[in-house]
Amino acid sequence: MDQFSADLFAQYRSHYTGGLARLASGAVFPSGYQSHAASETCPGHSTIMTGMRPARTGVIANNWIDQSVDRPKKVVYCAEDVTKTAADPKDYVASVGHLLVPTLGERIKTAMPASRNVAVAGKDRGALMMGGHVLDEVYWWKGRGFASLEGRPLAAAAVNQNKALGTMLASGAPAMALPAGCAPQDRAVSVATANGASSFTVGTGRFALAPGEGAAFRASPRLDRATLDLAAELVRAMKLGKGAVPDVLSVSLSATDYVGHAFGTAGAEMCIHMHQLDAALGDFLKALDAEKIDYAVVLTADHGGFDLPERLGAQALPAAQRAGAALLPEALSAVVAAQTGVEPKGLILSDGAGGDYWVRRDLSPEQKSKVVAAARAELARHPQVAATLSAGELAAMPMPSGSPETWTLAQRARASFYAPRSGDFYVMLARGVVPIPSPGPGYVATHGSPWDYDRRVPMLFWRAGMAGFEQPSPVETVDIAPTLAAWIGLAVPGGTFDGRCLDMDSGPGDTCGTK
Ligand SMILES: [Zn+2]
Repeated sequence: MDQFSADLFAQYRSHYTGGLARLASGAVFPSGYQSHAASETCPGHSTIMTGMRPARTGVIANNWIDQSVDRPKKVVYCAEDVTKTAADPKDYVASVGHLLVPTLGERIKTAMPASRNVAVAGKDRGALMMGGHVLDEVYWWKGRGFASLEGRPLAAAAVNQNKALGTMLASGAPAMALPAGCAPQDRAVSVATANGASSFTVGTGRFALAPGEGAAFRASPRLDRATLDLAAELVRAMKLGKGAVPDVLSVSLSATDYVGHAFGTAGAEMCIHMHQLDAALGDFLKALDAEKIDYAVVLTADHGGFDLPERLGAQALPAAQRAGAALLPEALSAVVAAQTGVEPKGLILSDGAGGDYWVRRDLSPEQKSKVVAAARAELARHPQVAATLSAGELAAMPMPSGSPETWTLAQRARASFYAPRSGDFYVMLARGVVPIPSPGPGYVATHGSPWDYDRRVPMLFWRAGMAGFEQPSPVETVDIAPTLAAWIGLAVPGGTFDGRCLDMDSGPGDTCGTK
C-alpha cells in the first residue's frame, strides 16, 4: 500500500473489519522501517522484494539527474529506459533496468523454474521494482487502462478489466458515502496557492467521478479495487498457487498515495479510502480462499506520509510548514553563482527541495568543490535545513546497522547513497517541513523526508492457521525477503540480504530454521 504509514495503520486499526483486520490477526510489526532517508516510491518498492536498501538496489530516488544522458532532459525517471525515451520526450518507455539486484520472485524462478512471477500495480514503478527483471505477467495503470511492458500483449484478464473500466470512466461514478466513523474528519481546510492569488479546499471530498476524469479515478479508492480485481483475475486464469512450487504475486495499491498527495492524510477523503480499501482487500482475500490454495500474505508500504501543513497547524502541530523557494535549485544557483563568480545557469540541479543536489558537470574540480562548499554553507544558514552531507562524506561512512529508529540522519542518508547515481551533496529538511513550496489542486501533501512519519510503515504477515503475535520492536522492510525465502525453504547465500529473517512461529518452532 503506497504511502500507508504506520501512523495511518495506528489511526484506523480499530476500524478495520475486512482484509486489513484479517492481516492484523497475523504477525504484526507496527514499526517497520523503510530505513533510508529518501522515503520515495521507487526506492521504497525496491527494498521490499530484494531485501536490500537503496544503496545496493541502486534506486536512490524516483528521479535523479544524469548529466551524461544523450537527450536535452537530464532528469532520469527510476523506471524508464533512457535509451528509448529520448525519441518521445512526452512519454517514456517503462523498464526495470535501473534495479541492480534480483527480486525474491526472480530468485525463486532461478531455483524452481516452474514458478511464476507476477506483478500488478497502480504505478509502473510499484509493479516493476517489486516484480523485477524476469516477469511472467506485469501490469500497471496508465491513464485510461492497465498497460504492460513494451511489446507484451495484454492477457485476457487485463483486456476485460480495461473494457469494464473504460465504460465506467466514460459514464462517471457517484459520490461515496461517508462512513459513520469519518464525521470528525469531514472538515474543509483552505489551502492558498503560492502567490496567495487563489485558494481551494480539501477535507470534505466524496470521490464523485465526472465522465472522462482519468486523473480523479486515480486518486480514489476505485483504482485499488480495479488493481485487486485484475490481480484476482490473474490468479484464477494462471492458476497461481496450484503448481508444485511457490508462485509470487506482487501487488502495489497506489491510491493511498494519490489520495494523500491530493487531499492529505487526515481528511474525510483518506477516511473513506481506508474503509473502501479494507473492504476491497477483504474481497480479494476471499477470492484467494475460493481458489483453495495455501498462500501467505505480507502487507507493507514503500514509505509513510505526512499531512498538509495547513491542517497540521490547526491540529496541534504549528511547527509544520511549507519549504521555502530558496531551497529550490534555481534560487540556490543564483546565490552560489554570486558568491563564487561561476555562471549561474544550471549551476545546481535537483528534483525539488531537499534530497540529492548535483553541480553542473563542466566545472573544474576546484570550482566544483567551491560551489558545493558555498551551497552547503548557504543551506546550513537556512532555518528549514536539518543537515547536509557531501557525496565524499557519505561514501566514507560504513553501511548503518542496528535498530533503524536510532540511526543518525547521516546514517539514513548513507542507506540511500549509491555513488554512480547520487548527487554531489544531500540535503535533509527539518522535521515538519513539507517540500511543496507551491501547493495546487491535486498536490498538497507529500513524503520523502528522513523523519519517522515518512520512514515508519506497518509490516503484517498472515497465513491461514498461523498463530498471530505482535512485535512492537522496530524491524525493516528489508527483512521481508529473507523472511519469505526462509518460510518457503529457499536457500539464499549468507550476506545476500541487508535484512534478517523474522520468525513467523510465535511458539517454540522457528520458520527461519536457525533454532
Ligand atoms: Zn509511494
